[in-house]
Amino acid sequence: MNIFYAIIFFILGSSLASFYGVVATRLPLHESIVKPRSHCMKCHHALSWYELIPVFSFLFLRGKCSKCHSKLSIAEPLLELFTGLCFAFFYLKYGISYSFFMSLILISLLDLIFISDFNYMIILDSPLVISAILIFLLRWVYFGIEEAFLYVGYGILMFLFMLIIGFIGSILFKREALGGGDIKLSFIVGMAVGVPYGFITLILSTFLALPYATFSLLSNTSKEVPFGPFIISSLCIVFLFYDKFSYILQLI
Ligand SMILES: [Zn+2]
Repeated sequence: MNIFYAIIFFILGSSLASFYGVVATRLPLHESIVKPRSHCMKCHHALSWYELIPVFSFLFLRGKCSKCHSKLSIAEPLLELFTGLCFAFFYLKYGISYSFFMSLILISLLDLIFISDFNYMIILDSPLVISAILIFLLRWVYFGIEEAFLYVGYGILMFLFMLIIGFIGSILFKREALGGGDIKLSFIVGMAVGVPYGFITLILSTFLALPYATFSLLSNTSKEVPFGPFIISSLCIVFLFYDKFSYILQLI
Protein backbone atom coordinates (compact mmCIF):
# COMPACT_ATOMS: atom_id res chain seq x y z
CA MET A 1 0.00 0.00 0.00
CA ASN A 2 2.92 2.30 0.76
CA ILE A 3 4.16 1.96 -2.80
CA PHE A 4 0.71 2.84 -4.12
CA TYR A 5 0.67 6.11 -2.16
CA ALA A 6 4.30 6.81 -3.12
CA ILE A 7 3.25 6.62 -6.78
CA ILE A 8 0.31 8.95 -6.10
CA PHE A 9 2.71 11.44 -4.49
CA PHE A 10 5.12 11.07 -7.42
CA ILE A 11 2.30 12.04 -9.81
CA LEU A 12 1.27 14.92 -7.54
CA GLY A 13 4.86 16.19 -7.25
CA SER A 14 5.63 16.02 -10.97
CA SER A 15 2.31 17.70 -11.87
CA LEU A 16 2.93 20.47 -9.35
CA ALA A 17 6.46 20.96 -10.74
CA SER A 18 4.99 21.40 -14.20
CA PHE A 19 2.62 24.04 -12.76
CA TYR A 20 5.51 25.74 -10.90
CA GLY A 21 7.38 25.91 -14.22
CA VAL A 22 4.52 27.88 -15.74
CA VAL A 23 4.19 30.14 -12.67
CA ALA A 24 7.92 30.90 -12.33
CA THR A 25 8.50 31.60 -16.03
CA ARG A 26 5.35 33.65 -16.67
CA LEU A 27 4.73 35.69 -13.50
CA PRO A 28 8.11 37.50 -13.61
CA LEU A 29 7.17 38.67 -17.14
CA HIS A 30 3.70 39.71 -15.89
CA GLU A 31 2.04 37.15 -18.13
CA SER A 32 -1.14 35.26 -17.23
CA ILE A 33 -0.62 31.74 -15.87
CA VAL A 34 -3.79 30.43 -17.54
CA LYS A 35 -3.62 32.01 -21.02
CA PRO A 36 -2.20 31.32 -23.51
CA ARG A 37 -2.01 27.55 -23.15
CA SER A 38 1.45 25.99 -22.94
CA HIS A 39 3.01 26.01 -26.38
CA CYS A 40 6.18 25.11 -28.28
CA MET A 41 8.67 27.97 -27.92
CA LYS A 42 9.65 27.73 -31.58
CA CYS A 43 6.50 27.14 -33.68
CA HIS A 44 3.96 28.25 -31.01
CA HIS A 45 1.89 25.10 -31.58
CA ALA A 46 -0.42 24.77 -28.54
CA LEU A 47 0.35 21.54 -26.67
CA SER A 48 -2.45 19.01 -26.40
CA TRP A 49 -3.18 17.04 -23.23
CA TYR A 50 -0.93 14.09 -24.16
CA GLU A 51 1.98 16.50 -24.65
CA LEU A 52 1.50 17.92 -21.16
CA ILE A 53 1.86 14.77 -19.04
CA PRO A 54 4.79 15.42 -16.70
CA VAL A 55 7.99 13.46 -17.49
CA PHE A 56 6.24 10.91 -19.77
CA SER A 57 5.30 13.30 -22.60
CA PHE A 58 8.96 14.21 -23.00
CA LEU A 59 9.86 10.53 -23.18
CA PHE A 60 7.35 9.46 -25.83
CA LEU A 61 7.84 12.64 -27.87
CA ARG A 62 11.56 11.73 -27.68
CA GLY A 63 12.33 15.29 -26.59
CA LYS A 64 10.96 16.88 -29.77
CA CYS A 65 7.94 19.08 -30.60
CA SER A 66 5.32 16.93 -32.37
CA LYS A 67 4.77 19.63 -35.02
CA CYS A 68 8.09 21.29 -35.87
CA HIS A 69 10.39 18.61 -34.38
CA SER A 70 12.56 21.20 -32.67
CA LYS A 71 14.20 20.03 -29.46
CA LEU A 72 12.27 20.56 -26.23
CA SER A 73 14.05 21.78 -23.11
CA ILE A 74 15.23 18.93 -20.88
CA ALA A 75 15.15 21.19 -17.81
CA GLU A 76 11.37 20.89 -17.36
CA PRO A 77 11.07 17.07 -17.39
CA LEU A 78 14.13 16.86 -15.13
CA LEU A 79 12.54 19.22 -12.63
CA GLU A 80 9.28 17.25 -12.81
CA LEU A 81 11.13 13.98 -12.28
CA PHE A 82 13.15 15.40 -9.38
CA THR A 83 10.05 16.84 -7.65
CA GLY A 84 8.01 13.67 -8.15
CA LEU A 85 10.84 11.54 -6.72
CA CYS A 86 11.24 13.92 -3.75
CA PHE A 87 7.52 13.77 -2.94
CA ALA A 88 7.55 9.96 -3.11
CA PHE A 89 10.80 9.70 -1.13
CA PHE A 90 9.61 12.02 1.66
CA TYR A 91 6.37 10.07 1.94
CA LEU A 92 8.31 6.81 2.33
CA LYS A 93 10.78 8.43 4.76
CA TYR A 94 8.38 10.39 7.00
CA GLY A 95 4.86 9.00 6.39
CA ILE A 96 2.01 11.51 6.73
CA SER A 97 3.56 13.81 9.31
CA TYR A 98 4.76 17.31 10.05
CA SER A 99 8.16 16.61 8.43
CA PHE A 100 6.47 15.28 5.30
CA PHE A 101 4.30 18.37 4.75
CA MET A 102 7.22 20.66 5.56
CA SER A 103 9.42 18.89 2.98
CA LEU A 104 6.73 19.35 0.32
CA ILE A 105 6.57 23.10 1.04
CA LEU A 106 10.38 23.44 0.92
CA ILE A 107 10.78 21.42 -2.31
CA SER A 108 8.02 23.47 -3.96
CA LEU A 109 9.78 26.66 -2.96
CA LEU A 110 13.07 25.22 -4.23
CA ASP A 111 11.54 24.63 -7.69
CA LEU A 112 10.01 28.08 -7.92
CA ILE A 113 13.12 29.94 -6.74
CA PHE A 114 15.50 27.96 -8.98
CA ILE A 115 13.46 28.79 -12.07
CA SER A 116 12.71 32.46 -11.40
CA ASP A 117 16.00 33.46 -9.76
CA PHE A 118 18.33 31.77 -12.28
CA ASN A 119 16.27 32.98 -15.27
CA TYR A 120 15.23 36.46 -14.19
CA MET A 121 17.10 37.21 -10.93
CA ILE A 122 13.69 37.46 -9.25
CA ILE A 123 12.21 35.72 -6.22
CA LEU A 124 8.44 36.00 -6.52
CA ASP A 125 6.53 37.31 -3.49
CA SER A 126 3.47 35.09 -3.85
CA PRO A 127 5.25 31.72 -3.21
CA LEU A 128 6.97 33.24 -0.15
CA VAL A 129 3.69 34.53 1.28
CA ILE A 130 1.89 31.22 0.61
CA SER A 131 4.78 29.22 2.15
CA ALA A 132 4.82 31.45 5.26
CA ILE A 133 1.07 30.92 5.77
CA LEU A 134 1.33 27.16 5.20
CA ILE A 135 4.29 26.78 7.59
CA PHE A 136 2.45 28.81 10.24
CA LEU A 137 -0.69 26.65 9.92
CA LEU A 138 1.33 23.43 9.87
CA ARG A 139 3.17 24.33 13.06
CA TRP A 140 -0.07 25.44 14.69
CA VAL A 141 -1.76 22.10 13.87
CA TYR A 142 1.17 19.95 15.04
CA PHE A 143 2.71 22.00 17.89
CA GLY A 144 0.16 24.64 18.95
CA ILE A 145 -0.35 28.35 18.39
CA GLU A 146 2.41 29.55 20.75
CA GLU A 147 5.05 27.54 18.91
CA ALA A 148 3.68 28.87 15.60
CA PHE A 149 4.12 32.47 16.76
CA LEU A 150 7.55 31.71 18.24
CA TYR A 151 8.77 30.70 14.78
CA VAL A 152 7.26 33.84 13.25
CA GLY A 153 9.56 35.64 15.73
CA TYR A 154 12.53 33.59 14.48
CA GLY A 155 11.51 34.55 10.94
CA ILE A 156 11.54 38.26 11.81
CA LEU A 157 14.93 37.82 13.50
CA MET A 158 16.48 36.21 10.42
CA PHE A 159 14.87 38.84 8.21
CA LEU A 160 16.36 41.70 10.26
CA PHE A 161 19.75 39.96 10.38
CA MET A 162 19.89 39.71 6.58
CA LEU A 163 18.63 43.28 6.24
CA ILE A 164 21.60 44.48 8.32
CA ILE A 165 24.05 42.24 6.40
CA GLY A 166 22.66 43.65 3.14
CA PHE A 167 23.00 47.20 4.46
CA ILE A 168 26.63 46.68 5.54
CA GLY A 169 27.36 44.97 2.21
CA SER A 170 25.93 47.86 0.22
CA ILE A 171 28.17 50.31 2.11
CA LEU A 172 31.28 48.11 1.59
CA PHE A 173 30.67 47.32 -2.09
CA LYS A 174 28.87 50.59 -2.91
CA ARG A 175 26.03 48.71 -4.63
CA GLU A 176 23.13 46.48 -3.62
CA ALA A 177 24.80 43.40 -2.06
CA LEU A 178 21.70 41.35 -1.27
CA GLY A 179 18.48 41.33 -3.27
CA GLY A 180 15.16 42.10 -1.56
CA GLY A 181 14.04 38.56 -2.42
CA ASP A 182 16.98 37.02 -0.52
CA ILE A 183 16.12 39.07 2.57
CA LYS A 184 12.43 38.06 2.38
CA LEU A 185 13.48 34.43 1.86
CA SER A 186 15.48 34.50 5.09
CA PHE A 187 12.16 35.15 6.89
CA ILE A 188 11.05 31.72 5.59
CA VAL A 189 14.38 30.24 6.76
CA GLY A 190 13.68 31.47 10.32
CA MET A 191 10.09 30.23 10.20
CA ALA A 192 11.09 26.80 8.89
CA VAL A 193 14.06 25.90 11.11
CA GLY A 194 14.30 28.67 13.73
CA VAL A 195 17.49 29.71 15.49
CA PRO A 196 20.37 28.67 15.48
CA TYR A 197 19.60 26.46 12.45
CA GLY A 198 18.64 29.54 10.44
CA PHE A 199 22.17 30.89 10.83
CA ILE A 200 23.66 27.52 9.89
CA THR A 201 21.49 27.62 6.75
CA LEU A 202 22.85 31.05 5.76
CA ILE A 203 26.48 30.03 6.42
CA LEU A 204 26.01 26.84 4.38
CA SER A 205 24.44 28.82 1.54
CA THR A 206 27.48 31.09 1.21
CA PHE A 207 29.70 27.99 0.97
CA LEU A 208 27.42 26.51 -1.70
CA ALA A 209 27.32 29.79 -3.64
CA LEU A 210 31.08 30.35 -3.52
CA PRO A 211 32.17 28.00 -6.36
CA TYR A 212 29.37 29.28 -8.60
CA ALA A 213 30.12 32.93 -7.80
CA THR A 214 33.86 32.45 -8.41
CA PHE A 215 33.18 30.69 -11.70
CA SER A 216 30.74 33.32 -12.98
CA LEU A 217 33.02 36.19 -11.93
CA LEU A 218 36.05 34.58 -13.62
CA SER A 219 34.16 33.72 -16.79
CA ASN A 220 32.62 37.22 -16.72
CA THR A 221 29.26 35.92 -17.90
CA SER A 222 27.30 37.99 -15.43
CA LYS A 223 28.11 40.40 -12.64
CA GLU A 224 25.28 39.37 -10.37
CA VAL A 225 24.94 35.98 -8.75
CA PRO A 226 21.47 34.76 -7.78
CA PHE A 227 21.72 33.87 -4.09
CA GLY A 228 18.17 32.59 -3.58
CA PRO A 229 18.73 29.09 -5.05
CA PHE A 230 21.65 28.55 -2.65
CA ILE A 231 19.67 29.72 0.40
CA ILE A 232 16.72 27.45 -0.38
CA SER A 233 19.03 24.48 -1.19
CA SER A 234 20.79 24.92 2.16
CA LEU A 235 17.44 25.16 3.90
CA CYS A 236 16.40 21.82 2.39
CA ILE A 237 19.74 20.26 3.41
CA VAL A 238 19.53 21.59 6.99
CA PHE A 239 15.92 20.42 7.30
CA LEU A 240 16.70 16.98 5.86
CA PHE A 241 19.76 16.44 8.09
CA TYR A 242 18.36 18.23 11.14
CA ASP A 243 19.52 15.55 13.60
CA LYS A 244 23.08 15.53 12.15
CA PHE A 245 23.31 19.30 12.54
CA SER A 246 21.92 19.21 16.08
CA TYR A 247 24.56 16.59 16.94
CA ILE A 248 27.32 18.91 15.62
CA LEU A 249 25.80 21.82 17.59
CA GLN A 250 25.94 19.79 20.81
CA LEU A 251 29.64 19.15 20.26
CA ILE A 252 30.40 22.86 19.96
ZN1 LIG B 1 7.19 23.29 -32.30
